[in-house]
Amino acid sequence: MENGKTELHFENGQIEIADLVIGADGAFSRVRPILASEDISYSGLTMLEMNVVNAAVNHPDLASFHKRGTVFALDEGKGIIGQLNGNGTIKVYVGLKVNRDWLDRCGIPFNKPKKAKEAILDLFGDWDEQLKNYIRYAEDTIIPRRIYMLPVGFKWQRHPRITLIGDAAHLMSPFAGEGVNLAMFDAYHLALAIMDNQNNVSKAIEIYEEKMFAYSSEAAAESKANLELCFGDHAAERLMNVMNSYKNKI
Ligand SMILES: Cc1cc2nc3c(=O)[nH]c(=O)nc-3n(C[C@H](O)[C@H](O)[C@H](O)COP(=O)(O)OP(=O)(O)OC[C@H]3O[C@@H](n4cnc5c(N)ncnc54)[C@H](O)[C@@H]3O)c2cc1C
Repeated sequence: MENGKTELHFENGQIEIADLVIGADGAFSRVRPILASEDISYSGLTMLEMNVVNAAVNHPDLASFHKRGTVFALDEGKGIIGQLNGNGTIKVYVGLKVNRDWLDRCGIPFNKPKKAKEAILDLFGDWDEQLKNYIRYAEDTIIPRRIYMLPVGFKWQRHPRITLIGDAAHLMSPFAGEGVNLAMFDAYHLALAIMDNQNNVSKAIEIYEEKMFAYSSEAAAESKANLELCFGDHAAERLMNVMNSYKNKI
């Protein structure tokens, strides 16, 4: 608008006038295209998300195999990742290095979870039974996701009254384990910058974006490298070497 404000049109027909627009609308942000022409791209990885609920009680064999934290089981181009969450659920991610259209043509009936789980287990036919239990014991909801990312070092032309935070600003694969931390860190830095520059929103955006572009590019580079490591050649051996290098530093 001529006065520098932004007019927002919502699907329900509502129109709002804003002094400052913060796009916190995730991977498929509707705000990002106002600032940048570059778009997200498919990372080459598709993940099937499942949940083993209350693992310690319902599946003590898996809970005792899993122990705490996260288990990565990797082979060439595929893996099973189990992540113990605070509520006792093990989040299970089956990761597959496949073309973008794999979900459309794989023939797995994700709306019929029992059949779908059988088909997913077939993908891991010769794997250890304890690892297959992550899939076998999962509840009957499977969420298939293509993993998208923005280019490492993604930036946009600064706008005096519009900015982005979280995945809208720096979508990356989940392999830096930083997505939620970064989203909260962005909100923190932007809020501080606004508090310190209450009469100068443009300055606040500049201060926030300078900081955010630096730390988010680092995480994006790490995430890309880890994705390539986990789903590239000799993944298990290479990840073990990385873990051992940390162990040696402790
Ligand atoms: C498989 C997978 C595993 C992950 N694991 C981890 C992990 O272990 N640790 C970690 O830190 N991160 C993880 N992440 C990343 C993490 O989920 C994201 O980085 C984080 O959710 C980003 O938060 P956000 O608020 O920016 O975006 P989102 O969580 O996507 O929130 C955006 C919100 O905007 C809403 N929205 C979008 N468009 C509109 C619109 N037009 N109008 C109104 N509302 C809209 C959406 O409905 C949504 O509620 C994982 C991601 C994936 C895909």
